[in-house]
Amino acid sequence: MKRIAIIGGGFAGLAAAVRLCDAGCPVALLERRQQLGGRAFSFADPITGDTLDNGQHLFMKCYRETLDFLTRIGARDDVVFQPQFNIAFRHTTHGASNLRFSSALPAPLNLLLGFLRFRAIRWTDIPPLRKINAELHKALDPCLAVHTWLGQCDQTPRMRAAFWDPLCLAALNQRPHNARACHLQAVLREAFWQPDGACLGYANRGLSNLFAHRAREHILKRGGEIHCGTAITAIAPARTGIHLHTRSAKVLKTEACIAAVPPLPLAKMLCAKPFAKLHHTLCQYEPSPILSVNLWFDRPIMREPMCGLLGTTMEWVFDKAAIYGDCDRASHLTVVASAAHHLMHQSNRELIALACEELHRVFPESQRANLLHANAIRERAATRALPLAYTPPKTQTPHPHLFLAGDWTDTGLPATIESAVRSGYAAADAVLST
Ligand SMILES: Cc1cc2nc3c(=O)[nH]c(=O)nc-3n(C[C@H](O)[C@H](O)[C@H](O)COP(=O)(O)OP(=O)(O)OC[C@H]3O[C@@H](n4cnc5c(N)ncnc54)[C@H](O)[C@@H]3O)c2cc1C
Repeated sequence: MKRIAIIGGGFAGLAAAVRLCDAGCPVALLERRQQLGGRAFSFADPITGDTLDNGQHLFMKCYRETLDFLTRIGARDDVVFQPQFNIAFRHTTHGASNLRFSSALPAPLNLLLGFLRFRAIRWTDIPPLRKINAELHKALDPCLAVHTWLGQCDQTPRMRAAFWDPLCLAALNQRPHNARACHLQAVLREAFWQPDGACLGYANRGLSNLFAHRAREHILKRGGEIHCGTAITAIAPARTGIHLHTRSAKVLKTEACIAAVPPLPLAKMLCAKPFAKLHHTLCQYEPSPILSVNLWFDRPIMREPMCGLLGTTMEWVFDKAAIYGDCDRASHLTVVASAAHHLMHQSNRELIALACEELHRVFPESQRANLLHANAIRERAATRALPLAYTPPKTQTPHPHLFLAGDWTDTGLPATIESAVRSGYAAADAVLST
């Protein structure tokens, strides 16, 4: 049996490689960078030595295929889930309130009860939720924006500001006017309308240690090959199989190939005629940034591992010492802004000042703490999405032996870890069935 080539060592490529190795199929994974993990990786902060992720990654209990992938590579126990969905919110003017959905009650009863206790809204905002409930299994127009859908379902401005807008930003990394309603609908169906599907999970270690190193070991142990520092420049269809051209001018011949790279690098690799339409679609993807500001204080600021911020520019704050269960770490907070186009041009100094100022507004006690160290991490293309008028590409391509994977492909989900892993598994299954 010939080796199957997989281009890209992020969640999608690694999931495909693990699935194929486990099925006894030899793989060769080709990754441009020197390390695996793609858009989810960690590194040591040069000043404190603390492990930093390129951005806080949250898992959900409904990430079915991701949990399967983590189980296969022996990492499942290092993602710690809340016993029930529970987020502490702090509003700049209305104070603190928790949004909690009991796992012991069925949906939507648990949602109803959770919203009744949530002080950021009033009880009059709740009845229109019935309309969302009625639309949950409807086939929505794929071009429908979240903003329009919420309008059609009569969601009140207060409900949008306290729940829908933060959820859309967090789960889709897009603003409601350009995010797909069908993606939000999928999140609601798979997470919030399942008994404990929305429970959030954190990795208790850096992302690279959580999955990249373990997936590597898993693949190598089963006879797979991993070639880091190998950039593919062209994918050329051949009479039998596919030829891959590397930056160092080598040609690798393979029977089948899974391309698990982001849309723009893929567009550059696909110049042959049969791919013209796919190439055009790939060039339409637009990046959506995520900004993370890390702040080290001389004392603890929060009691919870995470807190949602309302009425601010940045939306979430995470307490990394609480997440890692690391009592030796000085108070290390990560303040996050999603779909943060408007913040990307600001200097590190400005971003750190803004994060501190917003933190002081919602945690007034933080004003007494001394800032020891800080940095800002800009992920300019944290996720990529197509304008609403376009349909995302599927696993299959015009070439019978070339398959696509990546969080941006048509999995029915927004660009998330779960979408990446599902796409990787789907591509592996497609290879196995040819
Ligand atoms: C800051 C941040 C926070 C996030 N938070 C969350 C979260 O809380 N929850 C969640 O579910 N998701 C989150 N995400 C999204 C999640 O990280 C992605 O959905 C997922 O990592 C995408 O995996 P992928 O394999 O599809 O793509 P990638 O990770 O981009 O992998 C593609 C790989 O292809 C390689 N490559 C590119 N070109 C070539 C080439 N020419 N030759 C060879 N290799 C090449 C790249 O180097 C890369 O390693 C976040 C992302 C960021 C950046």
